Amino acid sequence: LLCTIMTLAYRPQMATVRPRVMAMPRAEEGRTGEVVQETLGMVESSIVTKLLDFLPDATSNQINLPYADVIVSGGKGLKNPENFKLVFELARVLGGEVGATRPCVQAGWVEADRQVGQTGKTVRPKLYIAAGISGAIQHRVGMESSDVIVAINTDPNAPIFDFAHYGIVGNALQVLPALTAAFAEHLGKRRRLVA
Ligand SMILES: Cc1cc2nc3c(=O)[nH]c(=O)nc-3n(C[C@H](O)[C@H](O)[C@H](O)COP(=O)(O)OP(=O)(O)OC[C@H]3O[C@@H](n4cnc5c(N)ncnc54)[C@H](O)[C@@H]3O)c2cc1C
Repeated sequence: LLCTIMTLAYRPQMATVRPRVMAMPRAEEGRTGEVVQETLGMVESSIVTKLLDFLPDATSNQINLPYADVIVSGGKGLKNPENFKLVFELARVLGGEVGATRPCVQAGWVEADRQVGQTGKTVRPKLYIAAGISGAIQHRVGMESSDVIVAINTDPNAPIFDFAHYGIVGNALQVLPALTAAFAEHLGKRRRLVA
């Protein structure tokens, strides 16, 4: 189902979808489509707005959450912005991006472009690690389509464990550095083997 809003009486209709809201279908060899050219019949003088120039935001493309294969996200359970560096360290070792919940963005711990959820980005990485995140519905809707979700939370009854594939009940301030060290060693070994 594409929409939850139906507009029956008015035509034409237009819809936009945020990146990664839907899964990318497999390419089908030989599949074709029909392009229908329509004449709009619009006269330029009747358009009240004019595009004078396009000035891209120099910072907006630096954080590419929707297309990241690995995302390590942090929540308020990390307690303070300094502890957020543990999230960045694990993401760096895994070659992934850093995400966050809305309260962390609102508190100024991380940039707004890192917010995952209803009022942030929709993501579907291969691996989503959620550290100190309760799993509120507004966060869940933005990341529940991830292939594998790993949750780290001190509270065994946290809602995130209802939909995470793997759960670690523990202190993220201890678990994150342990994961970073383990992955660094494992990936380092693998890289040495490949080289
Ligand atoms: C209109 C609206 C839109 C919203 N949009 C978004 C959105 O887009 N994205 C979003 O994320 N939220 C959004 N929210 C907010 C959302 O409702 C939640 O408040 C928010 O997701 C909770 O963030 P949190 O999990 O970081 O914090 P909390 O809910 O405070 O959870 C912190 C968690 O950390 C755990 N914890 C504590 N200490 C540790 C520790 N040492 N180690 C491990 N775990 C620990 C706790 O057990 C708890 O589960 C929206 C809310 C509204 C009303």
